[in-house]
Amino acid sequence: MAQVGVQVIAVDPGSLAEEAGIRPGDTLLRIHGEPVLDQLNYQFLITREDEADLVLQRPDGSTFEAFVENGGEGIGVDLAQDEVKVCKQNCVFCFVHQMPKGFRKSLYLKDEDIRLSFLYGHFTTLSSSDDAELDRIVRERLSPIHVSVHATEPEARIRVVGNPREGDILRKLDRLLAGGIDVHTQAVVAPGLNDGAIWQRTLDDLWARRREGRGSVLSLSCVPVGLTAHRQNLPDVQDVDPAFARDWVARWTPEVRRYARANDGEPWLLLADEWFTRAGVEVPGRSFYSRSWAQLENGVGLVRRFLEHSRRFIKSPRARGFAGRRVLLLTGASFAPTLARVAAELNRAVGSHLRVSAAANFSFGETVTVAGLLCGEDLKYAAHADRVARGGGSDWVDAVVVPSSSLRTHTGPTDQYTLRGVVVREEGTFLDDFTLPQLAADLGVPTVPSGANLSHLLDHLEAADRGAFRGGALQAAFHTAGLNLPQGAYNP
Ligand code: SF4
Repeated sequence: MAQVGVQVIAVDPGSLAEEAGIRPGDTLLRIHGEPVLDQLNYQFLITREDEADLVLQRPDGSTFEAFVENGGEGIGVDLAQDEVKVCKQNCVFCFVHQMPKGFRKSLYLKDEDIRLSFLYGHFTTLSSSDDAELDRIVRERLSPIHVSVHATEPEARIRVVGNPREGDILRKLDRLLAGGIDVHTQAVVAPGLNDGAIWQRTLDDLWARRREGRGSVLSLSCVPVGLTAHRQNLPDVQDVDPAFARDWVARWTPEVRRYARANDGEPWLLLADEWFTRAGVEVPGRSFYSRSWAQLENGVGLVRRFLEHSRRFIKSPRARGFAGRRVLLLTGASFAPTLARVAAELNRAVGSHLRVSAAANFSFGETVTVAGLLCGEDLKYAAHADRVARGGGSDWVDAVVVPSSSLRTHTGPTDQYTLRGVVVREEGTFLDDFTLPQLAADLGVPTVPSGANLSHLLDHLEAADRGAFRGGALQAAFHTAGLNLPQGAYNP
């Protein structure tokens, strides 16, 4: 990490920091003589001992020392956001490289940051991590970490990550494991690139690194490659079509159960939901997924969890809140059949009139079927098409629902991490900068985000009944928990 020193932006009144004369604007340079790299590193250093020697710099450039007896606790400072480490790799299926032109700048920035991997489960190829950074992970116990392995066979890995120096991912993994770091791994699978014998070797190599007592490979997920219609001047990568997905599901579903049995019943090999949705088959039952829903953020088990929650919700008295509601639910083509089934079940149970429409993704290309990449214009088009099909009346539905994942607030930068010069989009904005209030105004009916489940959705519809989704009341009114659903294959 090049950054040295972290700026103090606030000091808690009456805190140890205030007593020590620390002021907003100072820069925390060293703790125990060691350079402070970022917020995570500050947490590690300040909690390491019961007291701490600090070196700080005033805005005028002068430095001063402070000594605090902090009992291994924080000293009462808020530190400036850290900058995300930007990826300089060249993976053949990197989603950012296949983005259409014309979106806002932040969508074209790639993060490859071990801190985000530890804090938020973002996957890193470790290609930007030198040995010093791997040692930092070990020293600060940044465990578990999430690693995109893709292939352990060196030549295949070089082909996938597009970097001739990054064939030996096992050396890096072994350095982490030897240091006691646990690792969740994934392979984004593309036909002819890293399937077949290469995938089998990846599986064998990672399974051999599942250990007890020291650092262990905790899981391996496989995710089908995601390609857009915007791959000009990029290497040829074959997409996962329904036939390939069906074969994969047939071949590997029994293996998931076999590996789970050998892992004390806990699933270790994980198949992303998209294998099943692309194959057009039902996702497996609850026992197919890890007890802790490992790699849910990576699109493993989201559909099953939604189904489980829906089943319970539909039996609950709260479900009657949907009674009589005429609602159009817009979603991506891959999730539409599942959602339509749940909507029909709910309609039968409580007398609601929910309908589902699969919105085509004209922005990224119709091969992109996940809800999280639908743009505002795509959703607008789908809603208008539905209205026309229903006779064109202005009161054709009581409300329109858009996927919360299409309103994600971030693509990489987070509350704690930022990219210099990049504006993170505001709540309620689609990828194409179209906003939810704009969509509602265009459609002329209340338009709300789905949330993560039916319970959230009902909250949103009730909030819309109260007018909470107009103007600035938006942010306070909806469940942000449903906003950061992952993009599955689109987050390699
Ligand atoms: S897929 Fe990830 S690691 Fe690879 S180039 Fe894109 S951002 Fe970087």
